[in-house]
Amino acid sequence: MSRTVLHVDMDAFFASVEQREDPSLRGRPVVVGSDPQGGRGRGVVAAASYEARRYGIHSAQPISEAWRRCPNAVYLRPRRHLYSEVSAAVFEIFGRYTDLVEPLSIDEAFLDVTGSRQLFGPGPEIARRIKREVRAAEDLTASVGVAASKFVAKIASDLDKPDGLVVVSPGEERAFLASLEIRRLWGAGPRALDRFRTLGVATFRDAAELPLDVLVESFGEARGRRFHELVRGLDDRPVRPDRERKSLGKEITFDHDLSDRDRVRRTLFGLCEETALALRARGLAGSTVTVKLRWEGFETVTRQASLDRAVNTTERIWPVARDLMARADRPSRRVRLVGVSLSSLVPEAGRQLSLFTVEGERRDERVAAVVDRLAERFGPGAVTRAALLEAGGRAAGAPADTGTVESGNVDPQEEDPS
Ligand SMILES: [Mg+2]
Repeated sequence: MSRTVLHVDMDAFFASVEQREDPSLRGRPVVVGSDPQGGRGRGVVAAASYEARRYGIHSAQPISEAWRRCPNAVYLRPRRHLYSEVSAAVFEIFGRYTDLVEPLSIDEAFLDVTGSRQLFGPGPEIARRIKREVRAAEDLTASVGVAASKFVAKIASDLDKPDGLVVVSPGEERAFLASLEIRRLWGAGPRALDRFRTLGVATFRDAAELPLDVLVESFGEARGRRFHELVRGLDDRPVRPDRERKSLGKEITFDHDLSDRDRVRRTLFGLCEETALALRARGLAGSTVTVKLRWEGFETVTRQASLDRAVNTTERIWPVARDLMARADRPSRRVRLVGVSLSSLVPEAGRQLSLFTVEGERRDERVAAVVDRLAERFGPGAVTRAALLEAGGRAAGAPADTGTVESGNVDPQEEDPS
């Protein structure tokens, strides 16, 4: 018996929520993101309404580029708190149909509804019910892909947006994929796609015709084999509700590209402090630290380190982040953006406290508790650590909350530093 997997993806989520909150925005190009500053803004687009997409505006694009394409769009700063609330309500609806919900980001998830078919009907029927309930409860549309695997469901949900429903019957996967462009291969980053291009691959059909050894030679053993299966629509990865993909972090785009590494490091320290504060405010700790650097020209690198236990204090995060930055850095390049995030998050109470928890860590926690109380009273940034103070000052502009959003298009197997 084949599985039934739904991939549910909210349409232009942040922008749609804003249009819902202010009906005068309906039908107008809406861009949620950083301040465009009359075209001089240096952040990025977080979400674009479908009206804005007609101008070629899309998420992760520089906000200045969006402005150039459509200065008359409505530009809004993200209201993450609001989106989180809506997200929770939408996920609550998913939970009415199955316990097997694997979030990919704030606005998309896989649902394994194999065991729910008897109760609610076949996959497409469940998809229609979910779409109806989301619209009724939240006045928002979702697009759904229905298939026997995560991979095919994910591709299907994107083909008929907005308000789409695309069903791929078991056994039809390869025919369904055949004519699609290879850029839809979920889990392949820009470098992998370049590689496919040099192999003369334009579509899934082309890729499915490549012998296994060519794929292994091009992508390595594990990924080559994986791609060999995926391009045929074969994917037996389970929907894992407990999979921890969420991350929490802060990043900042400088007013102008910086060569001054001392200033970049000081900024990173401040971001570590704010991330630690945000983790503790949510009762979370994380054991994976990621540092992100974006150079002039927009090229981005990330470096990641896994710790043997989850942390949420500046004292624990900063030394790791500092080393990661040193590893990622290319001193000849000027820095446009720096960021830090923690992932593999666990509830703080569930944090494994080693028998040998060093006294130092307890002290960190006491310091952290004081910092938290001060921040509560006076707002974040009230406490500037001596080290930061000595180094002098902060980066200009308020840091952007990278929130708990992980791009749904990045498979964890791909560390693509391009
Ligand atoms: Mg979406």
